[in-house]
Amino acid sequence: MIDLRSDTVTMPNKDMRKAMYNSEVGDDVYGEDPTVNKLQEIASEITGKEDSLLVTSGTMGNLVSLLTLTNRGEEIILGNKCHVYAWEGSGVSIYGGISMKIINNNNDGSFEIDELESSINPLDDHKPITSTISIENTHNQCGGSPLTLDFIENVKSIADKNNLKIHMDGARLFNASVALRKSVKDIVKNVDSVTFCLSKGLSCPIGSIISGTKPFIAEARRWRKSIGGGMRQAGVIAAAGIYAFDNMVDRLEEDHLNAKNLAEGLSVIPEIIIDTEHVKTNIVRFELSDKVNSHEFETELKKEGIFFNSSYGSIRMVTHYGIDSKDIDEVINKTAKLVKNLI
Ligand SMILES: *Cc1c(COP(=O)(O)O)cnc(C)c1O
Repeated sequence: MIDLRSDTVTMPNKDMRKAMYNSEVGDDVYGEDPTVNKLQEIASEITGKEDSLLVTSGTMGNLVSLLTLTNRGEEIILGNKCHVYAWEGSGVSIYGGISMKIINNNNDGSFEIDELESSINPLDDHKPITSTISIENTHNQCGGSPLTLDFIENVKSIADKNNLKIHMDGARLFNASVALRKSVKDIVKNVDSVTFCLSKGLSCPIGSIISGTKPFIAEARRWRKSIGGGMRQAGVIAAAGIYAFDNMVDRLEEDHLNAKNLAEGLSVIPEIIIDTEHVKTNIVRFELSDKVNSHEFETELKKEGIFFNSSYGSIRMVTHYGIDSKDIDEVINKTAKLVKNLI
């Protein structure tokens, strides 16, 4: 089975498990887990923020961050294709009474700065107070695009002008850093809070990190506790994260190369619609022309042992630690054969 559904299917390797096995632990709700504390310190160094917090998932990271930055009844602005809006069960609305204003995502995960500016509510009793802008980096549904630093700077200038805060959903922040050849610190310097996942390309079994100012993290700890996210001997998880910072970041380059090769291989197959230039990290999205029945395509390719996700009529294949270049060749060959049979 070649599993391209997501980089979340990555398994902790032997050395990561060893680090977990050997971890020193304590009760983290009391702040007494030395391994969690160490992970959070390293995360703060990497992000250049004052403090950091381990949470169970990216979804919890986004939820806790947005609950911390945004008061009940206020509004956040976010892209129509972003994970917080589309794939997190409206947590911010359910738990925070926060309203979401959706603006159009461009293909690269950015949005038009004019549209952003005009979507900020004026002070008016009829309207929720606009409080926070949420951006996603890399942008999952926009083909894993890393946001440009220029775009983030433009968002920041609008935020400053209007007294708004910025949250970055950086589930795949390290993929952005590797692809852009920019430090994580540079990428997040203009945002108030950032979430990134340990459990995706970095191959940990569980965990995400939130980073921000000291007061932000202190408040985020309260929110984490109140939604049931306080963990006890979480050093077992944190040890995997520390291992990943040292060993799993640089290798993301390999995932990006595999994704590029996959995209290029697929692009020469007739009836597959793909923009190879758009593939900058580990996510490959493509569509099928009308000549291919997409339902049949999906069922038949899965029968060949190739697994992937599809949504909104587009197919997504994600490269990761468990995929090598031979797998990529196999996927290209089997896809080419299948398409030939289907047209
Ligand atoms: C996966 C993902 C998340 C959520 O992470 P989980 O750990 O699965 O909850 C958030 N944002 C983006 C962009 C993601 O791809």
